Amino acid sequence: MKVHEYQAKALLAQFGIPVPRGKVAYTPAEARGIAAELGCKVVIKAQVYAGGRGKAGGIKLANTPEEAEKAARDLIGTRLVTHQTGPEGVPVSKVLVEEASDVERELYLSILIDSTTKLPLMMASEAGGVEIEQVAETTPEKIFKAYIYPGIGFEPFQGRKLAYGMNLSVNQVREAPKLMEGLYELLMTKDCSLAEINPLAVTVDGRLLALDAKVNFDDNALFRRKDIQELRDVEQEDPLEVQAREWGISNYVRMDGNIGCMVNGAGLAMAVNDLIQYCGGSAANFLDIGTLNTTDRVVNSFKMFKADSRVKAVLINIFGGMARVDVIAKGIVEAYQQMDIDFPVVVRLAGTNVDEGNRILAESGIDLIEAKDFYDGAYKAVEAAKGATK
Ligand code: GDP
Ligand code: MN
Repeated sequence: MKVHEYQAKALLAQFGIPVPRGKVAYTPAEARGIAAELGCKVVIKAQVYAGGRGKAGGIKLANTPEEAEKAARDLIGTRLVTHQTGPEGVPVSKVLVEEASDVERELYLSILIDSTTKLPLMMASEAGGVEIEQVAETTPEKIFKAYIYPGIGFEPFQGRKLAYGMNLSVNQVREAPKLMEGLYELLMTKDCSLAEINPLAVTVDGRLLALDAKVNFDDNALFRRKDIQELRDVEQEDPLEVQAREWGISNYVRMDGNIGCMVNGAGLAMAVNDLIQYCGGSAANFLDIGTLNTTDRVVNSFKMFKADSRVKAVLINIFGGMARVDVIAKGIVEAYQQMDIDFPVVVRLAGTNVDEGNRILAESGIDLIEAKDFYDGAYKAVEAAKGATK
């Protein structure tokens, strides 16, 4: 899960990391008021779940409260397109109004869970303000790393090593490890998957200051983080993903094609994707209904297919182990009773109670396209999507 920059900065501040003074504004008048209160030059920053705002015009400097109001008016209510968003962009409905800082250098500092070592990994670089992927590509020697063993915690010598790596002055080398430890504590305490400060500024008067902040949370730990759940801004998320979550479909993956896929199990989902591609088509999504034996999941998956206008045909590929094919068949029948399904549906069923499942579908009289095996299912779904009239 993502959160906005202003929320991320509030968390950094909780862990003792210096951030600029500022507040979020929902209207141009509010932005003006905040700028007046701060009583200095301000930056107006579009709050969206995407980076690359600077280059996309989402960050503006304002010398006076009037200029702040105008900058906010230019941003609020628009959609911002950055290289991290799709061409449709993301809606801007609030801006962060912040004291502008005189910046001498822009550094990079982050912490994430490293998937190879399964340890928290802190990374620092003097090449901040640009994307770290780019630094890794062109000047990898400028990235310094420290793996942190949770049983020991963040150690001051690691902080000094990273601080020297960023070419900090002696005073800053003394300051930096405290800030880094704060970042580590934030990651551990709040179940973050990533906490990134880019840029971490060195101000003209020699202070370290988090000018930008990005914090992501581990979705699997959200159940025990009510405080974090409350920060979610569904307006920033893909409406279909929000819908899937509401309907209890835990594994929804959006793709670019036009075939809706209902499967049980992530491995099967990937195999289905490959076969659809092999047959010359492409999937619109994957709905992994898992092994829970309720008809609701199946009905809700059909709701998802209907809600997604790109879906021209559906492939249901079930290999019942723990999942019972007869329950899934009942779900299909219920879906057809509840809604008007105007796209072709290809069904391949195998595994536990398959005979009973096939009997239920046959007796229902629903016009389904039957597939005799996995390949046949993918092939027929691709053909059905090509010929679909929807
Ligand atoms: P991003 O483009 O979405 O990553 O947004 P950032 O918050 O990182 O801002 C982009 C750039 O704007 C930064 O790299 C800075 O160069 C600049 N910037 C942001 N805030 C300030 C500020 O207070 N003072 C100065 N001088 N530059 C700033
Ligand atoms: Mn940034």
